[in-house]
Amino acid sequence: MLERAVEDPQWLNAARILLHVGASTTATLHGQPLLSFVQEQADNNQAGFNDLLEPFLRRLGQDIDPWVQPTALLEDRTAECPICLETLWTSTPTAFVKLVEGGGQSVFHVICAHFFCFDCASQQYMKQQQAQANEYFCPTCRATAHEVMPMPDIAVNPRLWFQFLDVNRSGEIDQNMAVQALEAMLPIDTERLHESIAGGWAAWAKGHVTENDFFSKGGLLEWIRAHQHDLANAVKRGAAPSLPADDLQDWFRHWDVEHRGTLDKGQVLRALCEASKTSSLETRRIQELKEGITKVWDKYDLSLGLTRQHCKEPKLAADLAALAEKVAGMAS
Ligand SMILES: [Zn+2]
Ligand SMILES: [Zn+2]
Repeated sequence: MLERAVEDPQWLNAARILLHVGASTTATLHGQPLLSFVQEQADNNQAGFNDLLEPFLRRLGQDIDPWVQPTALLEDRTAECPICLETLWTSTPTAFVKLVEGGGQSVFHVICAHFFCFDCASQQYMKQQQAQANEYFCPTCRATAHEVMPMPDIAVNPRLWFQFLDVNRSGEIDQNMAVQALEAMLPIDTERLHESIAGGWAAWAKGHVTENDFFSKGGLLEWIRAHQHDLANAVKRGAAPSLPADDLQDWFRHWDVEHRGTLDKGQVLRALCEASKTSSLETRRIQELKEGITKVWDKYDLSLGLTRQHCKEPKLAADLAALAEKVAGMAS
């Protein structure tokens, strides 16, 4: 349908409607991820595709099963600006870049994997300008650059983000670069991320990421968008009431965001991550939570989900609270 839309814009409306009713954002077209195709057409100024890109990107990562792939992140021990030690992910991560011209377009790309807060990068840039050097350089590794530039917003233009991090212009981002960029843009504990990758935790973490890998189902883009959605939802929800060992009514109301009257295993896992201060990067603690939740599911016959009625059962409440407490006390 999208292929026909390139010739006949009528098909775009149909695509927009399908997307609205929940069509998959991670399908492929002749082996090319659909999103990558839409972005390519938008970049070529193909009429209508720019409008289609936005809902595509908004949807991407929202239909991930939180039981299979939990996306809870903790906002402690995250990467800092190496100059002022400000938390990096909330202060516009910025890098020293070079400009390359190609195919009628100019593209900025980083020169190294060092990110700074916007203020420090700008100050460094002005200092170097006053020293009247011919070129600028990264204050950490002294690689030479043309400019400083904030990391492009992946939710607005993922291809620009990818090109920004493609330091060798090879059509690939190496894993180290991807990890440094993730730490700069999300609340991620560096040590835990490295451990998780070593444990084979993410499909995209396999040495390098090509543009097709990046846009594909289960790829880095979907992974990042899923975590960004989770963070935005957490802000909307606010802090959860503590998990009381007797009555779960308030707790249930807090987590039943869509007022469905029932919580599934994935939602309970997300809730217990928060109660036990567990990040989804901590594979052992996640495993423990999953096993505990599965036991509760069997014991109280929750095959249709956890309802408000179940929450009046003090034994069930006590079991969930005990599970959260046990996992909170585990070494990560
Ligand atoms: Zn700084
Ligand atoms: Zn550097």
